[in-house]
Amino acid sequence: MELEPGIHQLAHGRKPFGIPAPNVYLIQGTDASMFIDSGWDNEDDHAARMAYLKEVGGPSLTGLLITHRHADHGGGALHIHQDTGVPISAHRLDQAAIEAERFGGAATLNSVLDGGESYDLGGLTLQVVHAPGHTAGSLAVVIPERNVMLSADTVLGVTTTVVRPSEGDLGKYVESLRMLRDLKPRLIYPGHGEPLTDPDDRIRQLIEHRMHREEQIVAELKTAPKTIDQLFDTIYPNLPEERQRIGKEQVESNLIKLTNEGRVAIDGEVYTLT
Ligand SMILES: [Zn+2]
Repeated sequence: MELEPGIHQLAHGRKPFGIPAPNVYLIQGTDASMFIDSGWDNEDDHAARMAYLKEVGGPSLTGLLITHRHADHGGGALHIHQDTGVPISAHRLDQAAIEAERFGGAATLNSVLDGGESYDLGGLTLQVVHAPGHTAGSLAVVIPERNVMLSADTVLGVTTTVVRPSEGDLGKYVESLRMLRDLKPRLIYPGHGEPLTDPDDRIRQLIEHRMHREEQIVAELKTAPKTIDQLFDTIYPNLPEERQRIGKEQVESNLIKLTNEGRVAIDGEVYTLT
């Protein structure tokens, strides 16, 4: 559906962890069109995206930007590339994961981004912003003519963002939230779910949520040194089985942030306040 002139949102396929299906954005200027993300790698989803593209018409497709390495955002990219020939771009720090996991080692990115690039589509410009944290190479895209931001998974309305130690960095994530908030977008088009009409308030909530979790962990460590499992048991007491691994990873991400800041020290598996 067209959210505002030239900005289309497509959402097809599976809902990861019960949140809405990944959003694919089709941005159309007067001279060129680009996809931001590709959705899942799935025949039906792919056919639906191609049918949508044909139906809306408009200027020719000139590129596909993958916001980050995850399957729900870049899974279908290679299929779109094979059908349309458009170049695929993504951030340098997610390049290896995308080429190995999303392309199965069978293809490489056509262009590697660092943030700061822009694409002139004619009347609409896509400005690439590196917003690390959810993954090392996570990107946001700003469209200055409309003062809107495509935030991918870095800012979501439907849930808080998962930050896994193997892929991301909580300290950088919080810095990215502050940086995106300072850009003062009028509206955020997130990687899942409906547009966010009060970006400033939503980002403030997300920062406060992280600070609250951190304070909980520091308070727990004040009582005694603890392991990740012990902290997890008090901080996420009622988490369903299938979410427990991710919960433990969130605790670990907090501990890595605190360790990097010199506030916590680790001895074996035990974390202590310094
Ligand atoms: Zn993601």
